Amino acid sequence: MNLINFIEQFPDETSCKLKFKEMRDRVGVTCRHCGSQDHYWQQSIWMYECKKCKTRTTLRSGTVMQASKLPFRYWFIAIHLLTSTKKPFSSLELQRQLGHKYYEPIWYMMQKLRKTMGIRDGEYRLDKIVELDEGFFESVDTEKSDEEKQNKRKRGRGSQKQSKVIVMASTVHPLKAPEKHKKRTKFRYVKMIVVDDLKAVTIEQQVESNIEPVSLVKTDNYKSYSKIKNMVWVHQSETVKPKDVDKVLPWVHTMISNAKHTLLGIHHMISRKYFQDYLDEFCYKVNRRYFGEKLFDRLLLACTTYNYKDYIHVNR
Ligand SMILES: [Zn+2]
Repeated sequence: MNLINFIEQFPDETSCKLKFKEMRDRVGVTCRHCGSQDHYWQQSIWMYECKKCKTRTTLRSGTVMQASKLPFRYWFIAIHLLTSTKKPFSSLELQRQLGHKYYEPIWYMMQKLRKTMGIRDGEYRLDKIVELDEGFFESVDTEKSDEEKQNKRKRGRGSQKQSKVIVMASTVHPLKAPEKHKKRTKFRYVKMIVVDDLKAVTIEQQVESNIEPVSLVKTDNYKSYSKIKNMVWVHQSETVKPKDVDKVLPWVHTMISNAKHTLLGIHHMISRKYFQDYLDEFCYKVNRRYFGEKLFDRLLLACTTYNYKDYIHVNR
């Protein structure tokens, strides 16, 4: 959907609300009081009413927009920008474009949308041939002691730390023989998970929750990977010289460098605390690179499905 189509389709608040209701009705509304899914729609007050116990549910309640005071149109514009552009954009830029007075609510809206993307991708596991390696991304530690904060003021910049990220790329052998100088496998999907450390137990947890046991997993011979062979169909580990890394684990490294280029080019420095959310946005878009115009509806549908409570339970 280009900008002209978007403006034509959603010229005002009402058109956005009607579309949001249409998407929400596909998922269905559950009464928070009695759990019933049978509701009347009360158009005059824009609310659902439970057929059993008469409890009313607003259009936003139980969705990503719960507790948000921003207009539906702001959310629609943000979803449009997130799904129609390859590059990310900053909350500051969106605030400027919307002409909104405050930065914080816009930042929260963007974060909730990124989290929605992460939760959606979290429902899938990778399979086929999965390359796995770790990446290190520059990020800023915003959780500082008071002393550190004072030092920060003196120096005028945050202390830089690296976020450790487990990167997994699902690939497959192409039907046709690859052209010369092209990668031998075809890329399918990617996952990037921020972890506190690279201990074996941490990596095994991520393998278990993100990779199907029927997969073939390729890694270098780092010691933390030694038990993966017990968790998946085949584990191929190779000693990889730094110059050969692009041959043995080509897609993981392409994805790491693409993510760095994409994220750090726009956001410059991302807080460690929120790094996962930015990676989620990157992966969501890469994994749906062939969706085209359908992506808007898909993300909107996900927005009606998950709500803020889901985010708290995301276990990463
Ligand atoms: Zn009810």
